[in-house]
Amino acid sequence: MILANENFYKVQATYLFSDIARRVSEFTEANKDASVIRLGIGDVTRALPQACVDAMIKATTEMGADDTFRGYGPDYGYDFLREAIALHDFKARGADISADEIFVSDGAKCDTGNFQELFAATGTKVAVPDPVYPVYVDTNVMAGRTGYAVDGRYENLAYLDCTEANNFVPAVPEEQVDLIYLCFPNNPTGATATKEQLKAFVDYAHENKALILFDAAYEAFIVDDDIPHSIYEIEGAKEVAVEFRSFSKNAGFTGTRCGYTVVPEECRVFNSKGEAVPLAPLWKRRMSTKFNGVSYPVQRAAEAVYSEEGGAQCKALVDGYLANAKVIRERIAQKGFKPVGGDNSPYIWFNTGMDSWKFFDKLLKEAQVVTTPGSGFGRCGNGYIRISAFNSMENVVKAMDRVCSVL
Ligand SMILES: *Cc1c(COP(=O)(O)O)cnc(C)c1O
Repeated sequence: MILANENFYKVQATYLFSDIARRVSEFTEANKDASVIRLGIGDVTRALPQACVDAMIKATTEMGADDTFRGYGPDYGYDFLREAIALHDFKARGADISADEIFVSDGAKCDTGNFQELFAATGTKVAVPDPVYPVYVDTNVMAGRTGYAVDGRYENLAYLDCTEANNFVPAVPEEQVDLIYLCFPNNPTGATATKEQLKAFVDYAHENKALILFDAAYEAFIVDDDIPHSIYEIEGAKEVAVEFRSFSKNAGFTGTRCGYTVVPEECRVFNSKGEAVPLAPLWKRRMSTKFNGVSYPVQRAAEAVYSEEGGAQCKALVDGYLANAKVIRERIAQKGFKPVGGDNSPYIWFNTGMDSWKFFDKLLKEAQVVTTPGSGFGRCGNGYIRISAFNSMENVVKAMDRVCSVL
């Protein structure tokens, strides 16, 4: 008898984005001439940088001629891309990461979701932030590392509360945990962490023989000089942290698909005898067995992000979204709310003083603006709203004029 993996049934269906879609379509059905502006999604809206498009076309042309055609690529990514990443994203920032510690993939969602396979199915205690990017939670639920959800929280999962009291950067766990997910700049709150705050987690991981999974998908939005871009800017992090990056948000690759994971050579886990063993061979094993690489044209497009021209084009994209975020942040603050994020991130998060969904409905019906209810990201999101800067400046200004006129 073929038995289902019943852990899948434990996953709480989050109706967040389908609920939003339903409410929006009900509203537009009933109000045919309403012009709804969407500031709810976590997807970019601007086209790929021209340097990436040009690189993709050139690589595609190579694929169409026998003498330049390429079949299966290297399991961990082409050297040209791994070397560009190591140089520009790490060495340039003083983080000593080499090309062979970089593993190119089809994006950070897959990697943050898949990485938990490397850890013991039972006995691994997992900590996640609340509010949270749901991938971290749901993949551990599917793997059987949690109990059932009770009042919106899974048994045997440690939640790290991100609240106004801690400036939306959680304290290190009070209990002993083994695996800690962190995301900075954060989705959904837009909060960033200082070097000291990350150092506390690195120290905790050393003291507790734990591992940090650091999601830096929004790294490109950091503008303040003192905010670390990578966890490897923190002393001692290479032994205890894995980092996930993505070309989705800085270069518009959400539909093109490319990202990478960093597993330093020094990074360790422990075997059942309590001996430290390197983690990288496990990820290499997994990549070679279950993944056949990102397409050559896409890796060439990603490489172009690091060219002078591509870099300038990515910066222009990010600067455009940051200018939108500034408008959103300022207008929300003018209305007496206390916005988080939007200065080093594309998301603005604030306490609405009422139920998240009530506030969502108010903005939809009265201002025809779509946002994201914070309660969909966890208990600590109750009463909050996330506004995304991924839209045109024109739409953002129009949307914020309307929002402010109803608040
Ligand atoms: C968008 C996003 C990613 C990137 O996902 P891709 O699969 O690379 O598109 C990763 N983590 C978080 C928190 C995100 O919001």
